[in-house]
Amino acid sequence: MSLFLKLLFRNRLAGFGAVVLGVIVLLALLTPILPLHPPNETNTANRYLRPLSDGHLLGTDHLGRDLLSRLLWGTRLSLAVGFAAALIAGLAGAAIGVIAGYFGGRTDNVTMRGIDMLMAFPYILLALAIVAVLGPGLLNALIAVAVVNIPFFARNIRGVTVGIAHREFIDAARLAGMGHTRILLTEVVPNIVPVVVIAMSTTIGWMILETAGLSFLGLGSQPPQADLGSMLGEARSALITAPHTSIVPGVMILLIVMSVNLLGDGIRDALDPRLRSGALARPMAATRVERREVPAAQGEGFLRIDALETQFQVGRRIYKAVNKVSLDLQPGECLGLIGESGSGKSVTALSVMGLVASPPGVITGGAVRLEGKDLIGAPYELLRSLRGRKVAYIFQDPLSTLHPLYRIGDQLIEAIRVHEPVSHGEAHKRAVKLLEDVRIPNAAARVRAYPHELSGGMRQRVGIAMALANDPDIIIADEPTTALDVTVQAQILALLDELRQRRGLAILFITHDFGVVGQLCDRVAVMYGGRIVETGPTQDVLEGPAHPYTKRLIACVPELGGGRRILAAIPGLPPAVDQLPEGCAFAPRCDKAQDACRRGEIELKGETRKVRCLYPEVAP
Ligand code: ADP
Ligand code: MG
Repeated sequence: MSLFLKLLFRNRLAGFGAVVLGVIVLLALLTPILPLHPPNETNTANRYLRPLSDGHLLGTDHLGRDLLSRLLWGTRLSLAVGFAAALIAGLAGAAIGVIAGYFGGRTDNVTMRGIDMLMAFPYILLALAIVAVLGPGLLNALIAVAVVNIPFFARNIRGVTVGIAHREFIDAARLAGMGHTRILLTEVVPNIVPVVVIAMSTTIGWMILETAGLSFLGLGSQPPQADLGSMLGEARSALITAPHTSIVPGVMILLIVMSVNLLGDGIRDALDPRLRSGALARPMAATRVERREVPAAQGEGFLRIDALETQFQVGRRIYKAVNKVSLDLQPGECLGLIGESGSGKSVTALSVMGLVASPPGVITGGAVRLEGKDLIGAPYELLRSLRGRKVAYIFQDPLSTLHPLYRIGDQLIEAIRVHEPVSHGEAHKRAVKLLEDVRIPNAAARVRAYPHELSGGMRQRVGIAMALANDPDIIIADEPTTALDVTVQAQILALLDELRQRRGLAILFITHDFGVVGQLCDRVAVMYGGRIVETGPTQDVLEGPAHPYTKRLIACVPELGGGRRILAAIPGLPPAVDQLPEGCAFAPRCDKAQDACRRGEIELKGETRKVRCLYPEVAP
């Protein structure tokens, strides 16, 4: 609830609407106890008094009745009728929609065709016809307005219900032996309540207007009782001579409808689950940087990451996803970054080009130097010109990184033309060449394919082609083969290796699989709980892992021809990075942990091989 209010008031306009509507509703509620003239007391001697005259703050109307009093009583009535009509239309419409959508088939057909017939008439004409049959009067106007709005709710809710009615949890409820009534009440209705509330909050304003319209025509409230519409209707004859009599109710209608609509929009945004998770606040184009000091470069390197710290600040929690990570990458080199899921590999990779979504991501320390130039906090224009041209990414799931509605050729051409002002024809030729480079058979025809027409391996080749489009110096590959089966994985790895040698690419290769590292990488860095725990040349690390965690990770890799052995799983779970233990993060899962491992800060020590462990398996 407090989250809902917070989201609601983050939208300033909705907050403004809520305040205005709140004041109006409060006034309407307090009307009976306010010291007002009786609303229907006539005094023809005081006709058409101007506003601010003695005893009549807003003046009087053609019968000398106090306008302020009539306005407040009228507002009370209009609000009550509008809300009641919305409630009735919402509940009745939702009930029809739920039943039609849930049962489907003939029930759906019959009810929906009836609803369609109602919808075939223009709103106000239908309302007029209903009032003509029932006779004028406020209650009948209410019924008319409610009835003409039922189809809107019924259609809307039916659509949502149809979407839900075939979902797995409904099937599960049915298999569990629940009856229709119970399924409707416990499984379907809770899921459509937000939709009903949203639809109601955005239509109440419209219904207040419709009721006012009927009253304006003399079909709603009957004299002497006044609602806002009938006040306007009575003031019509004096529009020129005494304009205040129409302006007063007119402004009130404007205020009510405007505030209801603003509030309704706010409620919709706050209740919509897609917008709720903060999607309204678009992530910034580059990660937010809050860095106190810039660490000195700790050595040479084409790409150097020094003591990088990236956090996610969610409410009061701080997730230290990347904690003082230092890495370096030389031209033409392949560095493997390995660790369990959640150890911070992707966040490290994304931080390099400022691609971590902010909010909630913040880079709180460290430096990322490309050819000696620090990129953390660099102007967005610089980052943009480097992204894709100097440093390109390959992501895990090409189906979600390629746009499903564009041909792969067009996506490649776009990637090329973002950085180079070449003609469309030239870019097309380059796109075909790129597809050939990544060994896609029949590339000239395949450029016209959509992503869904390709297999997973082919799609990942397109992903690689896209990364190569602007001839980058560095490729950051974030688990590019994890979604593929092993034979395709082997082909992709061979391709990357060949491209690296041919083009002199530097690759930062992220994976959780030591088998892959062994095939491709010159050096490897092992990550755990947001920190590097061991680094060194791949061969040395594979043959003699120094950190117990590395040793356990390597033990997880099956070996062909290695004989039968039990693949050891690492017991326990990776640590939650918002509450890291003191000392070594791996200590709770480590069978060699001593008391000293659970205290203070453990350094990453060594020269070419470094390890963050007090009792390493082998001396580094
Ligand atoms: P992986 O090593 O599997 O690539 P990630 O780098 O994606 O791991 O994530 C590292 C840690 O960052 C995870 O433990 C996760 O808890 C945290 N994290 C990632 N994204 C968010 C986010 N949007 N909000 C909060 N925490 C996040
Ligand atoms: Mg990842």
